Amino acid sequence: MDLSLPRPGRCKWAEGDTGNYTFPCNQRVDAGVSYCTDHRALVYMPPEERRRSKAANSGAMSFKRIAA
Ligand SMILES: [Zn+2]
Repeated sequence: MDLSLPRPGRCKWAEGDTGNYTFPCNQRVDAGVSYCTDHRALVYMPPEERRRSKAANSGAMSFKRIAA
């Protein structure tokens, strides 16, 4: 199976280095949709989601400081 090009109707999630991509995700997607649900969540992570994970990280750091 040739993994060097994204397949029509399949998730276009790419892995690898520039010029050496593979498209390992074989999930079906609707016409005009680039990624499956899982990978779309990774590619288009909403800003509030980024803020929340950032806040979670700093929270873990301050917890460590208190514990130390
Ligand atoms: Zn995918």
